[in-house]
Amino acid sequence: MHAPPLPDRSIEAFAEVAGRERLERLRSLATTLDDVRILHVNSTATGGGVAELLRSIVPVCIDLGVDTDWLVMDAGDDFFEVTKAIHNGLQGEGARLTEEMKATYHDVTDRNAAALKDEYDIVVLHDPQPLGMIDRVEETLPNAPIVWRCHIDLTDPSDEYLAFLSEYTGRIDHAIFSRSAYELELDVPMSVVYPSIDPLTAKNRSLDEEAMAVECDHLDPLSFDAPVVAQVSRFDPWKDQFGTLNAYRRACEAIPNLQLALAGGMAADDPEGFELYERVAAEAVDDTNVHVLTDLPDATVNVLQRRSDVVVQKSLREGFGLVVSEALWKRTPVVGSSVGGIPLQVEDGRNGYLVEPADTAGAADCVVDLLKDEDRRTRFGANGQEHVRERFLLPRQLADLLDVLVEVSSTGR
Ligand code: UDP
Repeated sequence: MHAPPLPDRSIEAFAEVAGRERLERLRSLATTLDDVRILHVNSTATGGGVAELLRSIVPVCIDLGVDTDWLVMDAGDDFFEVTKAIHNGLQGEGARLTEEMKATYHDVTDRNAAALKDEYDIVVLHDPQPLGMIDRVEETLPNAPIVWRCHIDLTDPSDEYLAFLSEYTGRIDHAIFSRSAYELELDVPMSVVYPSIDPLTAKNRSLDEEAMAVECDHLDPLSFDAPVVAQVSRFDPWKDQFGTLNAYRRACEAIPNLQLALAGGMAADDPEGFELYERVAAEAVDDTNVHVLTDLPDATVNVLQRRSDVVVQKSLREGFGLVVSEALWKRTPVVGSSVGGIPLQVEDGRNGYLVEPADTAGAADCVVDLLKDEDRRTRFGANGQEHVRERFLLPRQLADLLDVLVEVSSTGR
């Protein structure tokens, strides 16, 4: 396993967005944990929401005085093929899970657990990828409670994968989910912690006109002088980039100069990304108003989410969907599918619209309605930013997480 580089972060910097009271509460929770050493483990340092969350939460915990490490598993494509199949199975798409796949999962998780040399008081395993480490962690850190932090959409998991997961979830001490609807039938305490965005990163902070102009140049030939609709997502079948393309095509019948930006990165632990990117790019190649963009720097994503007229998130399943809060925080209305964590963020008719995941025509009509009504976009934008300020900024998530860790630490294993 390896420790990804972390930026220096200070909790004090959040005073303006979070308020003094919340910061004091965080400091008090941190004091309760001042002799507790915490380890977070996940499977990628870049790409996707979990890495995005840990990159902010871990350094802020350190600044608060909570001794916190983040380690990323070392693994190759064979392992990530298996864990993507597990991810897909838990989100309801059941390819068979073979004995060979189970053996690969076991070997790689065991090898990573064997590399764990330090002492910890609590181990937080994120998503299914590192869960198999539990076998060895139980031996090497017998007194450390194990928290499973599941970020994925468990609305309709396949039985086969749930059965596989239960070999491990039967031995955790606490589970954290992103919505109450995902709670599994487990014999351990469970909590719901809504994810959050960090308003102070290059991705989310406000930008002056000059910085904005520089980033707009990076997006050329996309131009904000004509209407723009954007979706920012890993290239992943669950994100339904083809559905977004179809919705855009229908919206073009009403708004012929509409542009579509499909921005996506490849997470290191997601082997499906590149192939899907190639298929989406090939499908869009003949339309000069469609821009398929990869590996944009965070500041460029910031400008894309900020300057687009409407952001779309047409996911078929979605654990939470940080990108939705990212766009709303920048006062951009969102048309999203009514799946997973999206309805927590999109308030239908207040900061955007919710549509059924298969309803491409409905998504297109909502986009067109918003594009034709600047006042509504402005009103929805203001509502969206307030909604995120109240519910989905980092200090709130951190307080909820530290609450759980205080409970876990006092209960023990
Ligand atoms: N992201 C990015 N560049 C891209 C695509 C995605 O920086 O081209 C970021 C996005 O801004 C967000 C995260 O990756 O912070 C995706 O998190 P989300 O919860 O929306 O989805 P996940 O990838 O975890 O399923």
